[in-house]
Amino acid sequence: MPRYEGQCHCGSVKFAFDSEPMVSGLRCNCSICVRKGAVMSPDVIDQEALDIEVRDDVLAIYQFGDKTAKHYFCKRCGIYPFHETARFPGKLRVNLGCIDALDPLGMEVSLFDGKHLL
Ligand SMILES: [Zn+2]
Repeated sequence: MPRYEGQCHCGSVKFAFDSEPMVSGLRCNCSICVRKGAVMSPDVIDQEALDIEVRDDVLAIYQFGDKTAKHYFCKRCGIYPFHETARFPGKLRVNLGCIDALDPLGMEVSLFDGKHLL
């Protein structure tokens, strides 16, 4: 399995995980995803499987509503690297735009109707 390595824009938040080759992405139209506009990993990743390295304590969490999901962002550059999902607590999706080895805007991207289903 390939190992994927990603980082926020300033590099203060780094993450890595092993996954089957990622050939597609996922977008969601819920209130926060539609604002972020990110292309996310189509499959969720176990929390234990994601290696996270944070410099200078810059990793912050934004939560709203029932506060199930944890939307992480870098306090220095503002970028969203990954989040713990509302649908699958304990599982994460990552921002494919943070992974230099991928071309998320060139991938087939499906849309999850989180606006109506979350
Ligand atoms: Zn950053």
